[in-house]
Amino acid sequence: MSENYQRLVDSTIEHLKWLKATGRQFVVVESQTLKDLQAPPPLPRVSFPKANPLPVVSSTIEQPKLAATIEEPVAASAGVQTGNGNAAAIAEIRNRAMECLKCPHLVKSRKNVVFGVGNVNAELMFVGEAPGADEDSQGEPFVGAAGQLLTRIIKAMGLSRETVYIANILKCRPDTPGQTSGNRKPTLDEMKTCLPYLLAQIDVIKPKIIVALGATAVEGLLGKTEGITKLRGNFKTFRDTPLMPTFHPAYLLRNQAISEKRKVWEDMLQVMERMNMEINDKQRGYFLKA
Ligand code: SF4
Repeated sequence: MSENYQRLVDSTIEHLKWLKATGRQFVVVESQTLKDLQAPPPLPRVSFPKANPLPVVSSTIEQPKLAATIEEPVAASAGVQTGNGNAAAIAEIRNRAMECLKCPHLVKSRKNVVFGVGNVNAELMFVGEAPGADEDSQGEPFVGAAGQLLTRIIKAMGLSRETVYIANILKCRPDTPGQTSGNRKPTLDEMKTCLPYLLAQIDVIKPKIIVALGATAVEGLLGKTEGITKLRGNFKTFRDTPLMPTFHPAYLLRNQAISEKRKVWEDMLQVMERMNMEINDKQRGYFLKA
């Protein structure tokens, strides 16, 4: 059994535990899946050397040595990379996601599977809910207006999209039959179906901190439905990893109040502090009223 197959099995077990913890009494498993589980298909011969120690984020948060590990957009060929255990493992998970047919209604409407982007050795991981129209077209998470705002937040932290990892709970855009525009929230079933891919990504990348963007991401990861207004600003724990819930950037586009921006920024300051990043006075003062 390959190391990566074992990771997927572990992720599946974790997912089943999560379902149980959130009250699910049974799961529907197709007979073909049961057969596959009994005799897993041979996996490509990929060696998975132990992950390199994660780089310590220095106080200057240089934009470092990471360009070589940035994933290509999903539309690109998903060949297995060598020389980096995490890159190879992520590539294999991505290959599986790219061919995923588990949600036939989404398979029918999607243009791309939007797997994830960034540094496969990242210490900080952002998790959103699902691709929108722009992400579906481009095959990359957080590239629309909300994504551009997220990029600005990341830059304000002294980081870049290339030094963090960005992914969604759902890898395919939720369909909107009968609508020509707009997005819809993923259903609980869709999230549960897709979650093993994200869990596998987290297992490989092993971020030091996860930022969950918006109520749906928090619900998908923690099963909590109290509302993001209540949950944000306080670290939770997701499978031993600190998780900071905060508003989705799309919320900040809808609500331009400086007080709301400050709330998100205060959440990011907490993240930076937890990562032992140096925070200058200018950063501490962002979105404070004069
Ligand atoms: S949403 Fe996830 S589980 Fe559903 S088809 Fe897309 S990749 Fe597969």
